[in-house]
Amino acid sequence: MPLRFALFSQRSLVLTLLLLLGGGFLATSLLSYHTSRDSIRDSIINTELPLTSDTVYSEIQKDLVRPILISSMMSRDTFMRDWVVAGERDPDQMTRYLREVMDHYGAYTAFFVSDVSLTYYHAKGVLKHVKPQEPRDTWYFRVRDMAEPYEINVDLDMANQDRMTVFINYKVFDYQDKFIGAAGVGLTVDAVIKLIDTYQQRYQRSVYFVDTNGKIVLTGAEGGPDGARAGQSMNELPNMKELLTQLPRPASGSYEYATQGQGHFLNVRFIPELNWYLFVDKREKGAMDGIRKSLYQNLLICTLVTLVVLWLLNGVIRRFQLRLEALATLDSLTGLPNRRGFDLLAAQALGEAQREPKPLMALMLDLDHFKQLNDTHGHLAGDEVLRGFSRLLENCLRHSDIICRWGGEEFIVLLKDTDSHNARMIAEKIRLQTEHEIFTYADQAIHLTTSVGLTALKPGDTLHALIARADQALYRAKQSGRNCVCSELPRSQYA
Ligand code: GH3
Ligand code: MG
Ligand code: MG
Repeated sequence: MPLRFALFSQRSLVLTLLLLLGGGFLATSLLSYHTSRDSIRDSIINTELPLTSDTVYSEIQKDLVRPILISSMMSRDTFMRDWVVAGERDPDQMTRYLREVMDHYGAYTAFFVSDVSLTYYHAKGVLKHVKPQEPRDTWYFRVRDMAEPYEINVDLDMANQDRMTVFINYKVFDYQDKFIGAAGVGLTVDAVIKLIDTYQQRYQRSVYFVDTNGKIVLTGAEGGPDGARAGQSMNELPNMKELLTQLPRPASGSYEYATQGQGHFLNVRFIPELNWYLFVDKREKGAMDGIRKSLYQNLLICTLVTLVVLWLLNGVIRRFQLRLEALATLDSLTGLPNRRGFDLLAAQALGEAQREPKPLMALMLDLDHFKQLNDTHGHLAGDEVLRGFSRLLENCLRHSDIICRWGGEEFIVLLKDTDSHNARMIAEKIRLQTEHEIFTYADQAIHLTTSVGLTALKPGDTLHALIARADQALYRAKQSGRNCVCSELPRSQYA
């Protein structure tokens, strides 16, 4: 195979393997990443967030549903209605009643606001008179005018050092269904806030409540999404834009949205008792960090493995290629270049000699009566003699000279930068040393002679023409009785 093709196929093999290994590793890494990601997403959406929602819901039920019932009972209480209808005569009676409700049911505060006198009664006495123009009293006039029987309002409690309190404001009617005031209980939301905080800190989940108009009504101590405070509308939060396109008004369900490139999972649940929505929100980043890290580690390992495999493969291919090239250009019996190897070396030597220009001589050698030697001593002895003769040739020549086993018992030698006189001397030296050498095989002494044809490179010569002339000279040497050197030289070079 020509070298160009060998290189091409080696490169395409390495490239194919790179694509196969790289593609395979990438595909399996991405596949396992997506599978883990889907299962984590699935568990967050279908298990984790609904579970948090359930727990918060049951806690809030415990804390809020009972006060709603108590407030409802107060609004139907005959004492309260009779007392108001009778003209609110003894405030102590009302105060006692409210204290009793507060102590008995463990409420944080209990109150009644009369519509006739606009007096605000609570467990410790008369607090104040409510006025429409007073911002802190607007709640009462809102309750008076609303269609629903009650509302839940998160507000500061003036009667208790302005603590954040959830008020259940129930409308009270007389026996003719005429509105006579608002009664109810209040409770601090500390317990709920503590629970929300636990979830936020331990599980990196954001928990908050939103009313039906999208107003945030209750958050943890550190606020709701983006640090929003209770009372803020979701519309006011710039990072909630994407969520609001999906959820312009709160609605129960599972949602996914992004803020500033960060993915979020969201579970929304309607709490009918409060007429609020419970939002449980989890950021994708924290949840997916682990598997994203292992994806990057996987890809790094795969890249390293691919590179090491390709590096090893490249090395192995290179070594095999060199060995194949050596095998293809060397003769296995003598270790000398064969015809293929000679063609490469000779083309180079001829090119150099013609370019410089420098003299170049060619010797064609053929061992005499080698068939007879084989017949007498055996083929293996013949092989041994061929090996011995090759070493003898190498010893008679310089390192830069080119020797080739041309075939059978024929050899070619190219002598670089050598004139005909010196070439003839070298040829004679080879002939004489061969004649005097005693080759041995299995304790047998074997004698050998060689005939040599000698010629010089002429300007414009091809390798073929040069060898043909050397062969011609060799033929004459054989004709001349063997064991001699014959030349086929241009006139000026005859020695
Ligand atoms: P001549 O003096 O005319 O060259 O006679 P020759 O016997 O050497 O010539 P011929 O071409 O008739 O025979 C060459 C012999 O060399 C025949 C062949 O069996 C033998 N030969 C060729 N290659 C090998 C080889 O690799 N090993 C051995 N042992 N013998 C070989
Ligand atoms: Mg021969
Ligand atoms: Mg021969």
